[in-house]
Amino acid sequence: MNSNIAHTWEMHCHSDFSDGALSPQTLYDRALEQQLDHLVLTDHDTAAGFRWLTESGQLSDDLKLWSGAELSSIWQKRSIHVVGIGMDVFSDDWRAVEARYDHIREQRLERLLFVLRREGLSIDEQAVRDQAGEGTLGRPHIARHLVETGQAKNSAQAFKRWLGQGKVGDVKQNWPELERAVDDIRRCGGVAVLAHPHRYKLTWRKLDQLLTDFQLAGGQAVEVSCPAMPPELRKRLVDYCREQDLFIGGGSDFHLPDTPWARLGFYPQWPNDGQRLTDLLESGTLRVFSPDDRC
Ligand code: AMP
Ligand code: MN
Ligand code: MN
Ligand code: MN
Repeated sequence: MNSNIAHTWEMHCHSDFSDGALSPQTLYDRALEQQLDHLVLTDHDTAAGFRWLTESGQLSDDLKLWSGAELSSIWQKRSIHVVGIGMDVFSDDWRAVEARYDHIREQRLERLLFVLRREGLSIDEQAVRDQAGEGTLGRPHIARHLVETGQAKNSAQAFKRWLGQGKVGDVKQNWPELERAVDDIRRCGGVAVLAHPHRYKLTWRKLDQLLTDFQLAGGQAVEVSCPAMPPELRKRLVDYCREQDLFIGGGSDFHLPDTPWARLGFYPQWPNDGQRLTDLLESGTLRVFSPDDRC
């Protein structure tokens, strides 16, 4: 059994700049209320929420906000997520990364609309875009549209039938290769973290290959403290990270309030051994970027 406990760091969460429910400010305020000390906003393929908060939001000295993003990628035909922390997200380099992802998501939407309509679903493109608002548009927005139009009972069912892994709506061919996603993060000054390794449904042998390729590409850390990660896998990953000199990370992957299994700042206790990513971040070797860094 996993028990999730309250932490002072949150290194993986989503706002409504991607598929989360809360605005970055509401998310930040909630983290402050919960007495977190560090918050990394990791929206899918964008750091626009971080830019918005640093430029127009209300920040407190009690809660440090870090730039971040969760980049979509592909490895051996599987979709893999890489969390980046501490990138200079005001730089032209990073903005080019976001623009590339915007373009890919647009192309993917076209394909998604085609394959889902072919299944007989009725999808109003504008309504899906409205679900996403200004945020990066993903499958969860389509799922919500299917629920609102009575074509699915809930989002989980929409994923199970049409959108989840291996289903018609699992359109991933456009994502950049894993190596590229890692490079995008590193080039912009961030730390690359392999997100939720337990979710890819890989055998240990395959996961070992993924970890090797990830590290060869420049990946520096692996999420090991994740809600719902089987403890045996966590132990194996912690051992692996220690042997291979990778940092251990983690986070809740918070998206929505009222989901008891993914509460902001709650995830399993840090393992006793291993080099913690939080220590690396706290060591001050990474620069934290602010709007003043814009050149
Ligand atoms: P996308 O960014 O379009 O690839 O969508 C990926 C997002 O869909 C993930 O970050 C999750 O938030 C959500 N998701 C993935 N699988 C499921 C599932 N089985 N049930 C509900 N949401 C899911
Ligand atoms: Mn998501
Ligand atoms: Mn993810
Ligand atoms: Mn996530």
